[in-house]
Amino acid sequence: MSKIIKTRGIILNTRNFKESSLFASVLTSNHGRIQILAKGCRRPRSKLCGTMERLNLNEIIFYKREEKDTYNLSDAVIIDDFAKLRNDPQRMNAGLVLSEFFEKTLALGQHDEKSYTLIFLFLRRLQTIEPKNIRLYVYVNLLRAIAIAGVKPHLDNCVRCGATVDYNQSKTDFSALGGGVVCNRDYDDTVISIQSSTVNIMNSIFKQQKIDGNNIVCEEMHILVPEYIFHQFGHLTLHTLKYLK
Ligand SMILES: [Zn+2]
Repeated sequence: MSKIIKTRGIILNTRNFKESSLFASVLTSNHGRIQILAKGCRRPRSKLCGTMERLNLNEIIFYKREEKDTYNLSDAVIIDDFAKLRNDPQRMNAGLVLSEFFEKTLALGQHDEKSYTLIFLFLRRLQTIEPKNIRLYVYVNLLRAIAIAGVKPHLDNCVRCGATVDYNQSKTDFSALGGGVVCNRDYDDTVISIQSSTVNIMNSIFKQQKIDGNNIVCEEMHILVPEYIFHQFGHLTLHTLKYLK
């Protein structure tokens, strides 16, 4: 039995298939991440031509079959191609960081409205945010995506033994492997010493509060977030982070 589904979705990634087709990984608003086969869409005259560009927000129609994990795309209409990202490599690459994260961490078919909403709002605002704030904006949203995945860093006290951590000191030890702040008895090889103010900013990010980050916070997140992702998501590396400016 197949069921016709109409939904909104953001194209996370694509890979060419045969001469004129491609597979697309799509994060949809109400069917989680799915993989679709867009037959013939690379032909110039195809009605699907241009719809499967990465980061496009489309309305798509596909036939869902319970026994399959790839669905045939029937139709697609672009709702928003986030044109201001496409004309600006710095913004485009920033957008691809979150899409790479979701592409590599979301299981197929797992219902996930929060991730969809996060990337949609992220891409929309990324078009107009000041260039100097783009990097921090990416890390803020990446940390929120990590929290949605259920792997939020533990910041209340030592993640290993529960001892109180004194945030009045200027520096705090954060263990990427342990998954949060640690006391000096629970030091390990993945500990990064960060400003206590960076921990406070992370707390504000998870509470959805407005944050006031500076360059030092941004530099620390540039080290801490990739390390954290590497240790908490099975040695995952986000290649797009290398080009984040
Ligand atoms: Zn401890």
